[in-house]
Amino acid sequence: MKTRDRVFSIVCTLALLVCLLFSYEYVVSNTQHDCPGKDCTVCVQLEAAVHFISSIKILPMLSFIAIVLCVFTRIYAASERSACVRNTLVLLKVELLN
Ligand SMILES: [Zn+2]
Repeated sequence: MKTRDRVFSIVCTLALLVCLLFSYEYVVSNTQHDCPGKDCTVCVQLEAAVHFISSIKILPMLSFIAIVLCVFTRIYAASERSACVRNTLVLLKVELLN
């Protein structure tokens, strides 16, 4: 893995963790607020934070599916049944003399 890709993945992971921690903190600190009732902005933001936390639960499942697909693709590409064309005229360096 290239260094740039590694740094990018670390930054993305840290951003995701920060968003998750701030969402939890916001939910915990504002669950007991003075709600004016209808059209409360705090309630709307609480709902958005809870939705973010619940939607992030799907990420491990998607990561597992991506890993399975990557492993399957590598195994399939290494086998002889690969769809890759291995013997082309260009790869064999055939010189066409007209
Ligand atoms: Zn409210």
